[in-house]
Amino acid sequence: MVDPIIRNRIEECADGKRHGRAIEEIRRAILHRLSFAPGIPDAELDGAAVARMFADRTPYAAGSYTRGEMAYGIVILTSGVIDQCLELGDHGQHAGRWNHTGLGIAVVGDFTQHAPTPQQMESLTWLCAQGLGMGWSIHGHTEIDGASNDPRKSCPGPYMRLDWLREAAVQRRKSLGLGSDPDRYAQALYGAGVTF
Ligand SMILES: [Zn+2]
Repeated sequence: MVDPIIRNRIEECADGKRHGRAIEEIRRAILHRLSFAPGIPDAELDGAAVARMFADRTPYAAGSYTRGEMAYGIVILTSGVIDQCLELGDHGQHAGRWNHTGLGIAVVGDFTQHAPTPQQMESLTWLCAQGLGMGWSIHGHTEIDGASNDPRKSCPGPYMRLDWLREAAVQRRKSLGLGSDPDRYAQALYGAGVTF
C-alpha cells in the first residue's frame, strides 16, 4: 500500500465563488461518478477538465446546473491520482443541502456500467480512512435523502461497492495507527499534500 499522489489543481479550477466552512464542519464524504464529458475519454478526464465543464453555463452544460461553479472538491482519476480542485474549506455544488457539511468526491467513470479501477479504489480507501479518523461518514450521493432531485438517479452506481469500501476504510484506518485524535488525521492529510 502506497499513499496516493495528490495534486493541487485549485488555482486552475477556481470558480471565483468561495463557500467558506471550517474543516470541523465537514461531516461526511459524498461519492459521485463522473463520466459525462462529451468527446473526452475517461482516461483523459482530470480535475481541470472537469472544472472547465462546470465553467460552461450554456443550456444543459454541466455549469448550467451549478451557476458556473465547480461541483466537486476532489476528482479521482482513472490512474488513482487525486486532483484537489477546491480547498477543503470551500464547498462545491454537488449534493443539495448537504453541500456545506459534505466533501464532494467525484470518481471518474460510469459505475452504473463498470467498476472503478483498482487504483481508484486504493486512493478512495486511503482518503476515506483519513476521513473516518476526522469523524466523517462515507456515503454514495443517492444514498442521502434530498441530495439529488432526480429520484431515478443512481450515483455513484452499483459497480462501486460502497459497503466494501466502508469496510476497507475501517481496516485501513486501523493500519494507519493514528489513534482517535482527529487532528492527527488532519495533519496526515496536510502532510500528503491536501490543501485546507
Ligand atoms: Zn452524484
